[in-house]
Amino acid sequence: MDNYARVPIRLVRGQGSRVWDEQGRAYLDFVSGIAVNTLGHAHPRLAEAVCEQARRLIHCSNLYHIPEQEQLAARLCALSGLDRAFFCNSGAEANEAAIKLARKYYHDMGSPRRTVISATQSFHGRTVLTLTATGQEKVKRGFDPLPAGFVHVPLNDAAALERSLGPDTAAVLLEPIQGEGGVREASIAYLRHVRRLCDENGILMILDEVQTGIGRTGCMFAYEHFGIRPDVLTLAKGLGGGVPIGCMLATEQVASAFGPGSHGSTFGGNPLSCRAALTVLDVIEREQLLRNVRERGERLMRGLEELLRRFPCIREVRGQGLLVGMELDRDVARLMELARAQGLLVLSAGARVLRLLPPLTVSDQEIDEALRRLEAALARFNEEEPS
Ligand SMILES: *Cc1c(COP(=O)(O)O)cnc(C)c1O
Repeated sequence: MDNYARVPIRLVRGQGSRVWDEQGRAYLDFVSGIAVNTLGHAHPRLAEAVCEQARRLIHCSNLYHIPEQEQLAARLCALSGLDRAFFCNSGAEANEAAIKLARKYYHDMGSPRRTVISATQSFHGRTVLTLTATGQEKVKRGFDPLPAGFVHVPLNDAAALERSLGPDTAAVLLEPIQGEGGVREASIAYLRHVRRLCDENGILMILDEVQTGIGRTGCMFAYEHFGIRPDVLTLAKGLGGGVPIGCMLATEQVASAFGPGSHGSTFGGNPLSCRAALTVLDVIEREQLLRNVRERGERLMRGLEELLRRFPCIREVRGQGLLVGMELDRDVARLMELARAQGLLVLSAGARVLRLLPPLTVSDQEIDEALRRLEAALARFNEEEPS
């Protein structure tokens, strides 16, 4: 179906930070399948683990205990400080599960709390519940009637959030850095304030780290930069390194609202996807990728700041680690085309923000090469559309 506006190339192979199209043209991949290919393409450890697991057991259903799922749950709980995990196959499903869990938690308590407060410009997925939580009109248009129980407030506006709290508020759902919404960061003061408000009012804090989680920002989870911890955390994109897997983590107390039969997923947490995720976590540790993200991220940011000084069409560069946005004073679509002509794949985050999401394994040389290609694209862009 025509639900994607596809770029006119067909990719057939990848290696590290590079992909090749059908014609054999190479591209430097600063998209990573939208923050999915954590370890780059064709990482030998991931390829080997997935092949080995496929030869052993791909799937068996949650009718049974699954050792790989138990190991992954234990690893993610140890990393996050949360207590329980539910596995699914995508970010939308992880957020859907989080919203269901919040509703059920208060339902079981006999409390009227049901409403979820999220941010304008946020993105939480495409299922009906998660597109309703999403703070972007274009995602919702045409899909009414939408479910009740969602309120939106501007990010980083503590007063607006306080005004929206009521006896019906169940949860505040936020991305620490809005990805799709334009690489917009929550401020440290704001997220800490949200944490305090949630604690004082008995409201759940749900963080959607589908894009920011699993090392993307230089910490395993972006909330670590803020010195807080959520009650419920959702993950997906980078978790399986390209193998579909989503996860919702929660505290013991909140997780206890789910009992046998209250939620489920046929594919969720199968041996193959859990093995892939365990391997991603292993490689992040073994290859010290969090440090790589911070150092390469610094280099990328410095290079972009240099471009900001030279090209007046660039308004701002921002982000954390290897989740980086460059805001222009005009539409970025043409610049993305020009970058592609230079052999660099990049994506957008809204109309005027160019987004860079290289694999966590990216090297200094590849960062420099991407910056040179982006500079060449910007020079062309400027000639075509002088400001
Ligand atoms: C991509 C994304 C989602 C949706 O994930 P899918 O796997 O496409 O369902 C949800 N939240 C955030 C923050 C995302 O970036």
